[in-house]
Amino acid sequence: MFLSSTRLQLTILLWTTAGQIVVKNGHRSRHAFSTRLNLWRSASTSSPEAITPKLDSITIKRKWRERCQAESPAVAKSTWGPGTGLKLDMKDRPKFYVLSMFPYPSGTLHMGHLRVYTISDVLARFYRMRGFDVLHPMGWDAFGLPAENAAIDRGIDPTEWTKNNIARMKEQLRSIGTEFDWDKEFATCSTAFYKHTQRIFLMLYERGLAYQSEALVNYDPVDRTVLANEQVDANGFSWRSGAKVEQIQLRQWFFRITAYQDELLKDLDSLVNGWPERVLSMQKNWLGKSTGAKILFSVIAADQPDQIIDVEVFSTRPDTLYGVEYLALSLDHPVVLTAAKKDESLRKFLDEASSFPPDSKAGYRLSNLHATHPLQHIDKESPHLSRELPIFAAPYVLSGCGKGAVMGVPGHDSRDFAFYKLNMRPNFISMVITPEPALGSTSDEKGVVGADDAKPFTGEGFLTSRCWKYWGLSSQEAAKQIVSDLKRVGRGDYAETWRLRDWLISRQRHWGTPIPIIHCKSCGPVPVPTDQLPVTLPKVDAHWLKGKKGNPLECSEEWLYTKCPNCGGPAKRDTDTMDTFVDSSWYYLRFLDPTNEDLPFSPAVARPVDVYIGGVEHAILHLLYARFIYKFLAETELFPENVSTHLAEAPEPFRTLLSQGMVHGKTHSEPSTGRFLLPSEVDVTDPNNPLIKGTQITPNISFEKMSKSKHNGVDPTSCVLKYGADATRAHILFAAPVGEVLEWDEAKIVGIQRWFSRLRKVVLETRQRLSDASFALPADSLGSAHVPSVFPLDTQLSDIDADAILSTHKIICYVTQCIEDNPYGLNSVISDLMKLTNALSSSLPKSPVILYSCVSALLRLLSPIAPALASELWEVLHQEILSNTELQNFSGNPSIFSVPWPTPLLTDSEAKTLSARGCQTTAVQVNGKLRFTVTIPRLLSNSEKPASASDTLPRNHAEHDAVTEAEHDWIISQILKTEKGQLWLTKRNDWRKRRRVVVVKGGKLVNVVF
Ligand SMILES: [Zn+2]
Repeated sequence: MFLSSTRLQLTILLWTTAGQIVVKNGHRSRHAFSTRLNLWRSASTSSPEAITPKLDSITIKRKWRERCQAESPAVAKSTWGPGTGLKLDMKDRPKFYVLSMFPYPSGTLHMGHLRVYTISDVLARFYRMRGFDVLHPMGWDAFGLPAENAAIDRGIDPTEWTKNNIARMKEQLRSIGTEFDWDKEFATCSTAFYKHTQRIFLMLYERGLAYQSEALVNYDPVDRTVLANEQVDANGFSWRSGAKVEQIQLRQWFFRITAYQDELLKDLDSLVNGWPERVLSMQKNWLGKSTGAKILFSVIAADQPDQIIDVEVFSTRPDTLYGVEYLALSLDHPVVLTAAKKDESLRKFLDEASSFPPDSKAGYRLSNLHATHPLQHIDKESPHLSRELPIFAAPYVLSGCGKGAVMGVPGHDSRDFAFYKLNMRPNFISMVITPEPALGSTSDEKGVVGADDAKPFTGEGFLTSRCWKYWGLSSQEAAKQIVSDLKRVGRGDYAETWRLRDWLISRQRHWGTPIPIIHCKSCGPVPVPTDQLPVTLPKVDAHWLKGKKGNPLECSEEWLYTKCPNCGGPAKRDTDTMDTFVDSSWYYLRFLDPTNEDLPFSPAVARPVDVYIGGVEHAILHLLYARFIYKFLAETELFPENVSTHLAEAPEPFRTLLSQGMVHGKTHSEPSTGRFLLPSEVDVTDPNNPLIKGTQITPNISFEKMSKSKHNGVDPTSCVLKYGADATRAHILFAAPVGEVLEWDEAKIVGIQRWFSRLRKVVLETRQRLSDASFALPADSLGSAHVPSVFPLDTQLSDIDADAILSTHKIICYVTQCIEDNPYGLNSVISDLMKLTNALSSSLPKSPVILYSCVSALLRLLSPIAPALASELWEVLHQEILSNTELQNFSGNPSIFSVPWPTPLLTDSEAKTLSARGCQTTAVQVNGKLRFTVTIPRLLSNSEKPASASDTLPRNHAEHDAVTEAEHDWIISQILKTEKGQLWLTKRNDWRKRRRVVVVKGGKLVNVVF
């Protein structure tokens, strides 16, 4: 591949100039800028096409990136954090906090990163241009298993491994054109950060919200560590080592998140407008509040009939109580553990069952024990209540959940049905609820169904004749009466349960925040005094070198043995480290005050994040833990008093949540075998018709989650190298709405590149026209929101100029509203900008001031998305203009990011005036034949656009002249109002029977198919 000579010429011409300045002055100054302008002017004497026929996006990107780094423009600096010297023009700006979920420093940026950081960068740049004092920081979620495994595998210190990875990823992040507040950067593995993580742990401990308890935990015997439930797959294997996970009892640290369950549920209501519905309902399900009844069953041993034990079960369906056939207890239920003492085969079962999958239907019937039906105390008439109910130890019953006991109702619960059939092999299943009231049933109806024919009925309905006085009642009414009857005899009550469990935070691992507790034989657990924090991780190089497994903290004797802070006696440090979710539960607050040594952050700066962006895979745990810790901290001295006392809003850490979808890769496979093909096996010379090399067979193409085994991964940095950061960014935004899966198809970037070329052509032509007209900017208007010239909005205005103002005005309104109110629709911003580019390129406005205003607005609207290209074209546009204008009128750097975001070009009444004067002509085809043309008014005012841009999503991206749904409806409604429209569409044809209506060319052509 070689450059065309003209392109080469451009590159040299442009960038040796800039390069010389950089070398001479070390940094660019205003003087340097005007020097370059002169050089530019001499260059622009030839025709624009001759100079810049093509877009060298890579060079442009490099130029602007270097310039940005050399200057670090004042606009990019935020004033966040105490002690920052406030700049006069910044301190009055409203603050705005944009944050993307910080990455784990794996060392490689992947497409998911590229997507999330592109989105956050666009938002940060947009809000800066809108006049906000924006915080857009970046840091590293740097603790965790991979670094430790790398240390074990390669015998290196995890600190080194992490540091190197951070350096690599930081460079990659810069290469994709993102602009972060790097002066706020930190890694959670630095002592300066985890000192405060330990402090927050101790604050929780002091308030009884961090505690130790024995718990059944998932233990990975290969990695020798405890795993969270989500790290165990459905078959009970470790996500990482692949080992069969064991259940063992271990003393563990927990955070009492359940103390906040009511707020965590209730405050979801305050997020309705800022969070996706899907995430809210995932949070709600995870909290899992359910209301029902607790019911006491009597358990009796055959050999000791007078010793009765009460076992409490929780049920959300007390209306099915007549259908109970057995009790099932968790493996660690006290009744089970007691029975196991005398029953060897039960002990064997318990050993084996601990590794059964969670959906196992296995059970062990406790010999010698049975339960009695609690309704016996009320209903003395139904003979079937007097049966002895068998009792099972069953792995499907979760310990701690509803006291680890459930009542088995095979007729009305699918799982109970399967369990009962397997373990009891019954002949009949009793049915106590029917979907409809059983009309005409008689009391001799059996209400049982043969087990082979039975199917559980799990819905609510009406009680059958097996249910004594409750017969015929609805499920809800029966539940109410049964529970209050049980309550009267002391055998039950209303109750609620939560699915949420306390948060198990300890890990038997080295690479995490050490738990700041010292264990003393005489004093018990003692917190490390605050002035002795941080408890730092010991260097355990020898451990890594020997490749030992297990927790190295237990073998670091010098570190392990210490003095009790309380009595001074010999004591041992806690050897557990914290779950990395603890770090990420508060890191967003640290960015507000990243160098504070005394406190995690100063109360003066405490505040929530305005827009938080991250993958939907973190929709549950990370967000839930962060919400919990934020609520906790809001009640402490770390928050200003007003937050906890008179809350205007619920304490929530993330006001708006942008949950972006995954990036799927183009996957090729062999049609006959389904084998995934390597990129080298596919011939993509013709991107529309790929062929398997050798066989020349067309492969199957699908889009799937990127993975090594599918050979469908894409390296974002190589993509950026190939197409430039701007085109890659624009493509990533354009290819799918933010919340949906993005099917990454590199071949489609060419569409973006074509758009960029068209745009460049528009700018070059504009420069030429403005130069020919000796256009000069009115004083000080570069820095104002838009050129404040009074448009000649009278009849003198040409149609082309009127069209240009109207469409630019409309797009300014759409784009601004979309980024501000519905960032999920960022893809529509790109299509709006393409539309405006096309409109301007098909006919440039005649009036220089209108031409300048339209093109200048378009570039500013583009700048957050394609910062280097917009900067470049901005400079190109202003070459002539600034030299025609008295330069001294401009203070500061005339970079595109130092000028404000464009505001609407027209007032509402101006817009109405303009739209009234202009009508558009539309040609209407019926079944492919041109039938008539009509003149209809323009759709103009913003109020005519649908309130939510999501209504118009997803759009047909290929169709640059595509109209929005609102425009489509407007055009059709206007055509139907005309005489010709009525003749052709309602009289000669039946409008109601139309099969397809296509509006193309921005409404200039409408095709109706009947
Ligand atoms: Zn002590």
